[in-house]
Amino acid sequence: MLDQIDEEAKALETTTKKGFKAWMPKRVVFTPDAMNEQYGQQIYERALSLNLNVELLKNNRITGLRGETERETYKIAKNTLAVVNAPKGAFNLRPIPPSADWQFHLAEGCPAHCQYCYLAGSLQGPPAIRVFANLPAILENTVKFERLNQITSFEASCYTDPLSLEHITGGLAETIRYFGQRPNSHLRFVTKFDDVEQLLHLPHNGRTRFRCSLNADFVAKRLEGGTPNVAARIQALRKMAMPQLRGGGGYPVGVVLAPIMPIAGWEEAYTELFNQIEQNLDFDYDLTFELITHRFTPGSKEILMGWYPNTSLDMDEAARTTKRNKFGGIKYVYSKEQMQLMKKFFEYQIGSRFPTAKILYWT
Ligand code: SF4
Repeated sequence: MLDQIDEEAKALETTTKKGFKAWMPKRVVFTPDAMNEQYGQQIYERALSLNLNVELLKNNRITGLRGETERETYKIAKNTLAVVNAPKGAFNLRPIPPSADWQFHLAEGCPAHCQYCYLAGSLQGPPAIRVFANLPAILENTVKFERLNQITSFEASCYTDPLSLEHITGGLAETIRYFGQRPNSHLRFVTKFDDVEQLLHLPHNGRTRFRCSLNADFVAKRLEGGTPNVAARIQALRKMAMPQLRGGGGYPVGVVLAPIMPIAGWEEAYTELFNQIEQNLDFDYDLTFELITHRFTPGSKEILMGWYPNTSLDMDEAARTTKRNKFGGIKYVYSKEQMQLMKKFFEYQIGSRFPTAKILYWT
């Protein structure tokens, strides 16, 4: 079992040493509704120019996503990009504390293969990647949720990693431009991807916070398949944060450390990560941190075990404490003592290395 994981980790390392290859789905399907949208047609043109295998569907139902086993369904779905219209319910935005006031969605699903994926259990059905073609309506709808006389924040990465799809869709750039013209609204998104060149010169007007999802190298190599390595992500963070006068994007930035895990030697591993971040932010920046420890639910564990039967991810209930959410559901978290130890460590590292940075939350 471990051999297979090591082989996967080696393959990932080889890919990242050669440079990360952007995701190219094996199948891209367009619903008739999506093709009625200008943005849907734009994605269609891009998909053709990338020589992707494009299908125009006769109706708005996506089929052909299931295989004979869970694992097969996973493989088929993760290789499928469906361009569809967001349903009506997507226009009724939900709050997303503590990250932002509201969440909205450019897409659902993600091409990466993180073995702890937080989407497990959040989205129904096979994990295909669905991009919403009615983007202009989705963006305009956010106006209705603006608060009077104060900045309202909108989170765009609850159900996807928007940068992972940008080379095919261009929708993130469109969204950043849109929020650049909105004085009272701020956009936030988080990514594990590194292809930020296309975002550097956008007129964001300081209203988009780019957040980079980072972890100790050991965790990223073993558990975050299909993503650029940590060093490449930190380079992306550096480019986005660097002032425009120096050729960077001049964005407010953030680091999302997630999921934090007390693996053997965790203090050294995370100290090394902080060393790398610090070395690469050698200029004035506007930086926040979000600190999220690993947790799982009975439902997410079951789904993840179906997707990644050989995972080395520690989901031993006996080693955790339970917490209940407001609907009575259980989640498994680290013990109070372990949490306090880690919190102290992270707060100290951040406070001593990045005195102007703000820690938004620890959970
Ligand atoms: S990048 Fe995020 S959404 Fe994508 S597989 Fe990893 S955890 Fe899941």
